[in-house]
Amino acid sequence: MRHHPWLFSGAIQRVENAGPGEIVTVRAADNTFLARGYYNSHSQIRVRLLTWNRDQPIDAAFWRRRVAAAWARRNAITRGKGDAWRAVHAENDQLPGLVVDMYGDWMVVQQLTLGIVQAWPYLLPALVEIAQPRGILERSDVPARKEEGLSPKVGQLWGETPPEEVLIHEAGYQIAVDLWHGQKTGYYLDQRLNRAYVARWAAGRELLNAFSYTGGFAVHALGAGAKFVLNVDASATALAWGETNLQRNGFSPDHFASQQGDVFQLLRRYRQEKRTFDMIILDPPKFATSKRTLIRATRGYKDINMLALQCLRPGGTLATFSCSGLVTPDLFQKVVFAASIDAGVEAQILADLEQPPDHPVLLSFPEGRYLKGLLLRRL
Ligand code: SAH
Repeated sequence: MRHHPWLFSGAIQRVENAGPGEIVTVRAADNTFLARGYYNSHSQIRVRLLTWNRDQPIDAAFWRRRVAAAWARRNAITRGKGDAWRAVHAENDQLPGLVVDMYGDWMVVQQLTLGIVQAWPYLLPALVEIAQPRGILERSDVPARKEEGLSPKVGQLWGETPPEEVLIHEAGYQIAVDLWHGQKTGYYLDQRLNRAYVARWAAGRELLNAFSYTGGFAVHALGAGAKFVLNVDASATALAWGETNLQRNGFSPDHFASQQGDVFQLLRRYRQEKRTFDMIILDPPKFATSKRTLIRATRGYKDINMLALQCLRPGGTLATFSCSGLVTPDLFQKVVFAASIDAGVEAQILADLEQPPDHPVLLSFPEGRYLKGLLLRRL
């Protein structure tokens, strides 16, 4: 058995005694035990499987063991790089539907499925005892909840109330995070290692940090000796936080600027103005949200990559990412290659980039691999 954690509606012949969010046993046509998981008739993913061991009941001890195991796997490699990291990565940590991020002492949780909402009375004491957070905030304001018949939810779940601004440490830098209103659970923890890695190419260079959010890549780049960074984002709030983050880390406003706007339009304008950069970072939001939108998404990726390559000086570096799980690393490389043809530019791959080990990919769940990137040099 391949132990993929999702059972789709089309694979089910008959349902008996299964309430919304309840633990169910999955049996083969001949009635032999297959697995146990939680059920939701509202979702196309009818059951998220939790165990293939018939002797394992799904009780308080089960949930506690799974949380403890995920926590224990976050070893020194994850924690030593800073105090903000992902403690539970849903399906990939054998806890389907549950995301737990740590921001220093503060815990931020996403309950993505009805099954996790139902299991919360067991999960809460386990998380409190194992992680000993100062407070727990829920940021279940994600579109995916709709597929589960759940509405978005944000609020205090336990302990002290986190302030509007929490300071985290990433590779020695201080970053302010808005846990209540920031994107995702407040910050893009999944880019932590890439921010540090990509900065190695930034010394002495003039950078465009496109889709900057609160300036994480800019902080690392200036810390590595970049000459100048221009942050571009659609969100004025994110850009303002970015400026504060740069100042907090001691960088002078002579060395950075912010531009609010749409990256697609701005890159077109820069190309027309022949404005070029030594280094460009392209870290767009998820363009492909479903198979239906995949073609349009790949066009979007191709477009911004073509424009970025055209705005890059010869010898310059492009760090380009996609966090759409439906865009595989292979497809992404092809799209970027097509972009380079349209741009009339030769480039070489310096590195393949991926998600960090606190966002692991369960081998039986290839869908877990969502973040990929290429570090390119324009020839
Ligand atoms: N690089 C960031 C994360 C980027 S997330 C980091 O390391 O933290 C994607 C960002 O793109 C978000 O901040 C969002 O506001 C912004 N965004 C989305 N669509 C955009 C567009 N068309 N033009 C400019 N910014 C956009």
